[in-house]
Order: sequence, then C-alpha cells, then structure tokens
Amino acid sequence: MSQQATAQGPADFSVDADWDAMFVDGEWRRAADRDRTDVTNPATGEVITQVPEALEPDVDEAYEAAVEAQREWANTSPAERAKVVREAARLLDEHAEDVREWIAVETGGTKPKQDIEHGGAVTFVYDAAQFAFRSSGKHNRSKIPGKDNVIKKEPAGVVGVITPWNVPLKLSIRVVAPAIALGNAVVLNPASPTPVTGGLIIANLFEEAGLPEGVLNVVPGSGSVAGDRVSSHPASDVVAFTGSTDVGRMVAKNAIDHFALPALELGGNNPHVVLEDADLDGAVDAGIFGTFWHQGQVCISINRHLVHESIYDEYAERLAERAASLPIGDPRDDENVIGPIINESQRDQIIEYIERTVEEGATLETGGDHDGLFVEPTVLTDVTNDMTAACNEHFGPVAPIIPFSSDDEAVEIANDTEYGLSGSVHSGDAFRAEAVADRIDTGMIHINDQPVNAEPAAPFGGMKSSGVGRYNSDWIIDELTEPKWMSFQREPRSYHF
Ligand code: NAP
Ligand code: MG
Repeated sequence: MSQQATAQGPADFSVDADWDAMFVDGEWRRAADRDRTDVTNPATGEVITQVPEALEPDVDEAYEAAVEAQREWANTSPAERAKVVREAARLLDEHAEDVREWIAVETGGTKPKQDIEHGGAVTFVYDAAQFAFRSSGKHNRSKIPGKDNVIKKEPAGVVGVITPWNVPLKLSIRVVAPAIALGNAVVLNPASPTPVTGGLIIANLFEEAGLPEGVLNVVPGSGSVAGDRVSSHPASDVVAFTGSTDVGRMVAKNAIDHFALPALELGGNNPHVVLEDADLDGAVDAGIFGTFWHQGQVCISINRHLVHESIYDEYAERLAERAASLPIGDPRDDENVIGPIINESQRDQIIEYIERTVEEGATLETGGDHDGLFVEPTVLTDVTNDMTAACNEHFGPVAPIIPFSSDDEAVEIANDTEYGLSGSVHSGDAFRAEAVADRIDTGMIHINDQPVNAEPAAPFGGMKSSGVGRYNSDWIIDELTEPKWMSFQREPRSYHF
C-alpha cells in the first residue's frame, strides 16, 4: 500500500486540528503521494487547511473496506447500531462551537446558516438512530392455503454518497446516518470546496462514537475522478447523489450500469407565489428569508417571486427595502446575515445572470454589485419567466419578481420550468392557496411560508428534473433497504402436478 497510515485522526473538531487525511478502513491516511486541495475561507481568501485528493485506487480501497465491514455491521443488533448513531448525534451537539465555526469558515455560512445546518443535523441524526429499529417488514396474507408471507427489510449493502458544497454537513449526514443505522456501509465523496464539513468531520464523529472500522469511509477528491468512481464502482448498491441535474444524470447512468439504485436530489427553480389576498407583511418576511438564507445558494431557495399585478409595486418596494438593509460581512460576526459566495466561478455566474437579465429588460431595484465574493442582495422587477435569472437556477442572492394576473397564470408560470423541487403560496384563504399549490408540480410546497424547509418526518425530494426518490423517515428507509419476501408453507401444499 502506497499510503502512509496513521491511527490518529484530528485531535479535536477545531479549525486548527490536522485534517490533512482521508478516512479509509478506520484509518486516517495521509496519502503523502496524492495532490492536495486547498480549503479556502471564502470570506477572507485564507487557506484554512489542505486535504488529499483521492484517486481511483483510494476509492477502490474504500469500497473493499466497506464491503468487508458491512456484513458484520448488518449483523449487529439494532440496539447497538442505534447507540452508535445516537452517540454521533450527541458528539455533534457537544462540539457545536467548533462545527459552527467550520460552517462559517468553510462554507461562508452566517449565524442563521450555522443555526439551521448544525441544529438540523443534530435532530436528523438523533431521528436516524431509531431507524435501526424501524427497518421491520410485514406479514402479508397468501393466496395459497397454509402459507405465510413475511416481507423483511435487509440493508441495501454499500451506499456511495456524493454531496454538494452549499449545506455540506447536513446534506451528507442526512444520508450517512440513516445508512449506518440501517446496517449499511458508506463511501462518501464530499464536494471539493467543503471536504471537512461535508465529510471529514462526519468521519471524526462516527469514529469517536465507536463505529467499527470500514463502515464509513470518506474520500475527498474531485468529482470527475473520485466522485465518478464512487458512482461507477460495481460494489455500490445505492448511489445517493445531491447536486446539479447535469451531474446527477451522469451519476445515475453510472449507477444503473451496475444496477445500483440511484437516489437523486437535484436542482430547483422554486416559485414563491403571492396571491392578491395575501398578508403582505408575511409574504415579504418569507420572501426575504427564502431568497437570502445562505446567499440563495440552496436547492430549495426562492428562485422566482410570482406576485399578483395589483400588489406588485408595493411588494417589490418592500422587498427591495428589506433586501438593501441586510447586513453583509464575515460570517464569524453574528451580526451578519449575508456571507460570501463559495468561490469566484459561482460569483461570476450570479453576476452574469443579473447583468443579462437587466439587458433583457428587467429593472434593478437594489443590489447587483459585489465586493470580492460578497454579492449584494439583489431585487429585479419587470421580469418575465424567460429572462436569464428566472429560467436558470441562479443559486445566488437574487429575487426576480414576475407579475401575474390570475391564479391560472400563476400556476402556468410556476410550472414553466424543467424543475419541480419546492415552492410556496401565500393567500388569506387557505383553501384557495391549497388549490393553487395542488396544481404546482413540486415534491414540496408550503402555504403561507417559503420553500426552505426540511423536517425529519416529511418526505424531501423533487419531481421532474429535480430528482428521483425521497429522503427522510420511511422514504429513505425504503431507499436504503431491500425488501426480501420469505414464505413459510406451514401445511402440505397441493401442487398442479
Ligand atoms: P455539482 O456540480 O453537481 O456537484 C455536486 C457533487 O458532485 C460535488 O461533490 C462534485 O464534486 C460532484 N461531481 C462533479 N462531477 C462529478 C462526476 N462526473 N461524477 C460524480 N460526481 C461529480 O453541484 P454543486 O454545484 O456542488 O451544487 C449545486 C447544485 O446542487 C444545485 O443544482 C442545487 O440545486 C443542487 N442541490 C440539490 C439539493 C437537493 O437536496 N435537491 C441540495 C443541495 C444542492 P466537485 O466538488 O469535486 O466538483
Ligand atoms: Mg467531490
């Protein structure tokens, strides 16, 4: 083995600890002969740490370890598996201060992002611990006299996980924790900009929690090399991918090529629909949070504001005023609400989308400018659904506002996108909002709220090009287990011949 192995992981969870290793077969491997990725604080440009870039052989070793470890892990008692996952949740809570700092410096997440990502992750991991007891099956009647049908649920086996950089801790752990609780092993490739919150912190948590070697493996490295191998490795039984629709399509093809189940959480272009009888204060409050939380770099952010023409001007004025007043700056300062964009290429694309939309005839009400990676909260009016910032997933702090004249037209515009992830509808009449929401083709939709919601007991996922399958609770239990039909012929059976 070309790897230099070390038994020692990061001494603690702090930003100053040594994170320069991959985690394979229960070992922190320095991999001195691999290239390094710089992990950069987007607010300051400072390099926080470096991590090795896993290559194909590293991913292969991770799968080998996972396959080997999974058999035994699946045979441990549910109580034992639940205990390990619960302990990981407890440790995640205990190390809140360090983990929140990591979210700030690695993802550019301000206090509201730290609260929701860290707090949400703790809740989800505690919930996942109980999955160990919930992978029970059914006892169904038979058409054959004297036969009993028992349907068991087996762990799927080895789960390959690939996640994005925007909410990396939460999006990785929402698969890793259920997978482990259910008796699977995992090979995780976090996104290149966020290998620590998206992967190595999770390895450190589960190692401290007492997870046996090889059950969780974390291989940082570029998506096109390590990620491609994670999705195409023949030993994976499920490939759980969260990211863009284009990459998701490639990953799904890789997975299906060896008959692994692709579980896909992809992009969105989420509408926030404000009917003319809505409470304007509530609609604007929700519109601000849903657009600007984590600088709009979220699959379930509000991408488009659809507002009835009779309240359009007032809504736009209030939204722009509020947007212009949001404090921007270093996420480590709790006062700030708007932090940096993850990197230059993402920032450049956001700015280009804004500029093109203005060229296409939209009016810039506020924002549009940037300072380094900090992009001002931007509000655009006179927008039509075919303009650049409306028909693309802009993934930035941008609120394009589109007018409509009837509920039918609102539904038509809302659905005029390839995506179908989340959305929201505001009305003073809940039944009317429901009738509109029923006709919007998204996997998730929220009345008198905004689209940024995730809960342990509600299915998370999208329709159309936003993905395949659902996360959380029974839905993810189904994705991470295989049903097995076992029948018992309790009386002699009379056959046809
Ligand atoms: P991305 O470019 O698709 O990357 C996602 C992950 O895939 C990263 O880890 C990336 O690695 C990896 N990857 C890249 N090329 C790959 C390949 N050929 N094979 C296997 N893996 C590969 O997406 P992103 O820009 O990080 O994230 C933004 C997108 O994710 C948006 O579309 C957003 O809507 C979506 N998203 C969806 C959800 C959801 O739950 N539905 C949640 C969050 C985000 P590298 O970092 O090394 O390139
Ligand atoms: Mg990656």
